[in-house]
Amino acid sequence: MRIDVFTIFPELIEGFTGHSLLGRARSRGLLDVRAHDLRDGATDVHRTVDDAPFGGGAGMVLMPEPVFRVVEAVDPLRPLLLLGPGGRRFDQALARELAAGAGFSLLCGRYEGVDHRIRTHLVDGELSIGDYVLAGGEVAACVVIEAVARLVPGVMGNAASAEHESFSDGLLEEPQYTRPADFRGWVVPEVLRSGDHGRIARWRRAQALARTLADRPDLIEARGGLAPEERALLEEWDLVT
Ligand code: SAH
Repeated sequence: MRIDVFTIFPELIEGFTGHSLLGRARSRGLLDVRAHDLRDGATDVHRTVDDAPFGGGAGMVLMPEPVFRVVEAVDPLRPLLLLGPGGRRFDQALARELAAGAGFSLLCGRYEGVDHRIRTHLVDGELSIGDYVLAGGEVAACVVIEAVARLVPGVMGNAASAEHESFSDGLLEEPQYTRPADFRGWVVPEVLRSGDHGRIARWRRAQALARTLADRPDLIEARGGLAPEERALLEEWDLVT
């Protein structure tokens, strides 16, 4: 998977993707992240990439020339997605979509944002990581890269872990426990230590349903409510609210 990132802080992207899961994926050749400095597209000695907005107002805006110049010189894999608070909300479904392709590219804004012609004539779409405003697109780019890369086959040690986790089937994940079985008197549910795999699977499914109902009822609604067998499962484990 190849991911080109355009930014005025390439070292932020290099640093983040150089460690842990992503760092290992990069060194094993599964992930090819290339961070490009937008200042390389500047033509003055100060490597200027921003200017004041037409019409007045606070802050600076990323200019089109240096951005177009660097992006066109690299000719990155498409889609090229601009990070911005007004974009399509990034979620697990979109992560899966991006992970299914050969790669994609990200453009990080800074300051007050980017010249609108970058949005209309250079990128293929815009991605937001949530309804809040960051100072730049770099952290958002790292969020997208990590969520996508861990779905690329081979990146995570245990391939099954990406299939049974939050959002994979429209539900949050069930509670997880590890040793010790008794920590300060808080005991791991007996069923998980029973060795009865059928019962464990039913308990996990019931817990995932109950947790999603309690914390994210919108997810239950989005999948069309509870099926009759799901209601029965909740009743079986006494989880009906
Ligand atoms: N003035 C702009 C915000 C600019 S924030 C506005 O009101 O919409 C500066 C840069 O940070 C943006 O160009 C974008 O690249 C990035 N950014 C800020 N919030 C973001 C978010 N929620 N998701 C993705 N990128 C974001």
